Amino acid sequence: MSSENKKHWYPAYVGLGSNLHDPAHQVETAFELLGEIRATHLISRSSLYGSAPFGGVQQPDFINAVASLLTQLSAQELLRELQRIEGERGRERGEVRWGPRVLDLDLLVYSNQKIDEPELCVPHPGIGERNFVLLPLGEIAPELDIPGLGRIASLDADSIEPKISRIG
Ligand code: AMP
Repeated sequence: MSSENKKHWYPAYVGLGSNLHDPAHQVETAFELLGEIRATHLISRSSLYGSAPFGGVQQPDFINAVASLLTQLSAQELLRELQRIEGERGRERGEVRWGPRVLDLDLLVYSNQKIDEPELCVPHPGIGERNFVLLPLGEIAPELDIPGLGRIASLDADSIEPKISRIG
């Protein structure tokens, strides 16, 4: 058996967001590209959700969703793959914080790991305050126990502003 075959498969959850250049199409394409990452399987995907922008910048509404993956990559390797996909879809580094974007991919949760590095914080620090993450994550993984936050189903996403809507 090769060493590759002995590697463990880790569950990981990725948040997807777009508000430029046909956002629903961007998110659908991103799901396909997530499924093509090396040593990684796309296990499930949430519905698409529409959300008002976060952070006070005037810009179009976002489409958000969440994907569940199984991967043999480390969290750092997976983040590099997410950044590669963002770049291939036309995302430019150094954009306005919370500004418009073709594609944003966040590593929300990686196994039961807590990582606090300059380039990678896992679980993603925004999870508990963002219903555009909590609702799609709760849709596909209601029993998920997020290190430091608790079970998704116990977090009250409906009380968070602005409200979001499921669009398909
Ligand atoms: P954003 O503008 O939201 O795409 O943020 C990108 C920056 O956040 C990059 O410099 C990443 O290294 C950093 N980052 C830290 N933790 C994470 C995470 N869990 N997922 C994605 N990016 C992260």
